[in-house]
Amino acid sequence: MNSPTHTLLAMALLSKSGKPVRNWAIAIGSLIPDIAIYIWAPWQMWINDVGRRTLWRELYFEDTMQAIIAPPNSIPLFALLAGIGFWLNASGRSLKWGLALLMLSLAALIHIATDIPVHSHDAYRHLWPLSDWRFHSPISYWQDSRGGRWISMIEAAIGLACAIVLWRRHPRLWVKLTLGLLGLAYIALQLKMWLDPFGGPP
Ligand SMILES: [Zn+2]
Repeated sequence: MNSPTHTLLAMALLSKSGKPVRNWAIAIGSLIPDIAIYIWAPWQMWINDVGRRTLWRELYFEDTMQAIIAPPNSIPLFALLAGIGFWLNASGRSLKWGLALLMLSLAALIHIATDIPVHSHDAYRHLWPLSDWRFHSPISYWQDSRGGRWISMIEAAIGLACAIVLWRRHPRLWVKLTLGLLGLAYIALQLKMWLDPFGGPP
C-alpha cells in the first residue's frame, strides 16, 4: 500500500483526541517500514542519476536494498518491541514511553499486515531475522497485471474513509489541514497510478 494509506489507517484505528505522545508515536510507527525507501529512492535518482526502471526493477532487488528494508518490515522485531512497550507500561516503569513504544510498534505492525496481501514479486521478508520466507501475493497494489487498478481503488476508499473518521475525531485546525494535505497527496498518488501504471514501492 502507499504510505498515506498506512498512516491514515493506523491513526483511524489507534489515535485519540488530545493524546499527542500517543498520536505521534502512531504516525511515526506507521511510516517506519517505508522510511528507508524515501531516502534511498531520491538518493539514487538525483545523486546517482539512476533511471526509474533500473531503480525499481534492478537496484531495489539487490542484496543491499533488501538488507536495508528487511528490519523495518519485520513482524518478529515489532512484536518484540510491542511486548517491551506493553511491559514498560503495564509494570508502571514508564507509563508514557511504554505506551509510545507500544503504539509505534502496533502502527508498524498494521502497516506490515496491510502490505502482506498486496505485494507480489516485491514481497518483503516479513519474518526476518527468523526466516527469509516471503509471501508472494497473487494481487498487487500497483502492478496492473495483478489487479493493481482495482486494488488501488479499494485502497483509495479505505484511505478516504479513515480521513473522514480522523477529521471528525480531531478538532484541531492543523490536524485537519494535515489530513487535507495527506488526502490530496494520497489522491495525487491514486491519479498517478491510473495515468502512469509503472511505479514502484512503497
Ligand atoms: Zn509498506
